[in-house]
Amino acid sequence: MIPPVLDVLPDWPAAMRARSRAVHLLRTEQGAHAFVVDGSRLFDIDEGAFARLSAALDGEAVSAVLADLGLAAEVPSVDDTAPERLSIRALSLAIAQKCNLGCTYCYAREGDFGSAPKNMPLETALASVELLFEETNPSERVHLAFLGGEPLINRTVLRRTVEYAADRAKGRGQAIGFSITTNGTLLNPEDCEFFDRYGFAATISLDGSRAVHDRLRPFKGGRGSFDANRSSPRPVAGAARLHAGHGAGHRHAGESRIARNTRRAAGARVP
Ligand code: SF4
Repeated sequence: MIPPVLDVLPDWPAAMRARSRAVHLLRTEQGAHAFVVDGSRLFDIDEGAFARLSAALDGEAVSAVLADLGLAAEVPSVDDTAPERLSIRALSLAIAQKCNLGCTYCYAREGDFGSAPKNMPLETALASVELLFEETNPSERVHLAFLGGEPLINRTVLRRTVEYAADRAKGRGQAIGFSITTNGTLLNPEDCEFFDRYGFAATISLDGSRAVHDRLRPFKGGRGSFDANRSSPRPVAGAARLHAGHGAGHRHAGESRIARNTRRAAGARVP
């Protein structure tokens, strides 16, 4: 669900979409931006910086310009070294490759990632839990996160997986935590009771005011989803929070813009 901050304005010709291996330059309705590939960092930049980077884009000088502008990473986070094998401590299960919303900026293609909508089978989810335990010893805390699409579409598998994982963890004397990222439109009281029972951290997407949210996050049929989101019950015992960004690895560059919308709607002065 990347919001349009990463979109190039339609009147910007393809030939002007400037990019190199180090940096992509783009313009949106909010100004000029530089997407620095190392670390996947997105910056607002002024016209002067945009011009300097544009001029340097094709040569080696681009790295020096990035450094001069303070945009280069102090320690490169990307190189060609093969990573050592890392053991798994946490898993994110995209248990529903489908969604009831059709957000305008969804990088998951409205939840189905551009293929046939489907749910993760229970066997796959349980095998993933087993993998998590195989990779860890009982002294290590593990974490299971549930994403989509909209994960509550596959509610039964979600619950059975949590119950299984909690039982296995208890049997091993191992600490486990759970979280979910949801669009908040399908939550019911039983879900909330379940999430509270298992100490879930629940992240619920809300994108600003009613007008903004309804425009950007409609149901598939086009109706706004603000009321369904705001009127649904909320888990209380876990760390329930409204958040910018949702679904399928939906921690993304667009979060900052959604967060700004939400803070504005709450009355904050946001640049
Ligand atoms: S709720 Fe999430 S997965 Fe569904 S359409 Fe919106 S951004 Fe995509």
